[in-house]
Amino acid sequence: AAAAASSSIKQVKLERESELRIEVANDTPLRLRLLNGTAEIFGTELPPEMWLNFPPRLKFAVFTWYGATIEMDGATETDYTADETPMVSYVNVHAVLDGRRKLAKASSSSAADSTQQGPRVIVVGPTDSGKSTLCRMLLSWAAKGAWKPTFVDLDIGQGSITSPGCIAATPIELPIDPVEGISLDMPLVYFYGHTTPSQNVDLYKALVKELAQILEKQFTGNAESRASGMVINTMGWIEGVGYELLLHAIDTFNANVILVLGQEKLFSMLRDVLRSKPNVDVVKLQKSGGVVSRNAKFRQKSRSYKIREYFYGIANDLSPHSNIANFSDLLIYRVGGGPQAPRSALPIGADPVANPLRVTPVNIDRDLLHVVLAVSYAQEPDQIVSSNVAGFIYITDIDLQRRKVTYLSPTAGDLPSKYLVMGTLTWLET
Ligand code: ATP
Repeated sequence: AAAAASSSIKQVKLERESELRIEVANDTPLRLRLLNGTAEIFGTELPPEMWLNFPPRLKFAVFTWYGATIEMDGATETDYTADETPMVSYVNVHAVLDGRRKLAKASSSSAADSTQQGPRVIVVGPTDSGKSTLCRMLLSWAAKGAWKPTFVDLDIGQGSITSPGCIAATPIELPIDPVEGISLDMPLVYFYGHTTPSQNVDLYKALVKELAQILEKQFTGNAESRASGMVINTMGWIEGVGYELLLHAIDTFNANVILVLGQEKLFSMLRDVLRSKPNVDVVKLQKSGGVVSRNAKFRQKSRSYKIREYFYGIANDLSPHSNIANFSDLLIYRVGGGPQAPRSALPIGADPVANPLRVTPVNIDRDLLHVVLAVSYAQEPDQIVSSNVAGFIYITDIDLQRRKVTYLSPTAGDLPSKYLVMGTLTWLET
């Protein structure tokens, strides 16, 4: 009886079309299971009766279409039930997208029009409007229906595919695991190296273009992916250059469904500029009241966790290797911000601005300490901007006397390529 009294187990009964919103405690995990009925977490159904472990700080909702009872064990920062959600409108969007996938599939097998594409959805809106969460639901619902949509994440600040500072794409074949997140077989990753696009707007655009071109090529040879389409997540920066970058992404990926979350002004601006394109639908969607706002400090922290997760795994289940290399073994480059051309070398009247896509070698010194570097697939330095990356290393020590660098790498042995790319991305291992 004493054990039962001190136990933190509680049951929550959810009515149809309502959700249990949870913020897991800061230091302790939470266990949760579905006792009866049916429920999903951001589009992925919960298995009956099986305990799931949620790590500290995770924020999520358990939603039910027809009613469910949930059992929870552990501390939470908050947990409450909400019966007002935008889920019906979200699933209606999914139904429309599904119809378009079916059309695309039917027309590609009839060969009447082999260029038929599935929907290319782009989700836009201010920070903390629930963009990543909506992407996740649309992807999981599609995967549940046996489609294989491609998830494209253009958010270099809070991306969900790999380390911050990157844009990336990966096919989604199964509903996304509520705890583990997106499973990564072979994501296609481009390294930008900064967590804000204003550092080098031209580079950001160039990488978006590279990623889009590669996906376009993959789609040509893969009717299943083509019919399934894409779901593209974007950054919360929607003013000025941020807005320009949204238009650039819409154009570059040939997006034909624009989902605007939580901002009337952005919706009407996009509807007006895209009015001339009859094949593009701009749809306004309500933001969920469950979306948790995160301040700059929280965002900084979650970037840091994301890098940690890359090396150590989400549950500390990976063991990265510490390696030592000679200065001469590492060929490090940076993009943009290189030395300016002398005025005498330029046409009359031209200003000596640095080429934003110029690749320059970096000398190894103490500044490299705590830097996260990408391992590029480039064969030559001048291919660095157009090449995707294999992964990342983290510099843990620089010995200037012995000219040795110590770095953390997810695997032992040689790096898959000798060209490393540096930006302003750093990490303090804690
Ligand atoms: P960003 O500004 O980084 O682009 P975003 O618009 O993509 O943010 P999300 O990451 O989708 O926003 O949501 C912010 C946080 O709110 C996330 O931690 C997410 O898990 C949480 N969240 C979203 N919807 C709900 C909900 N209905 N109930 C509880 N938590 C939620």
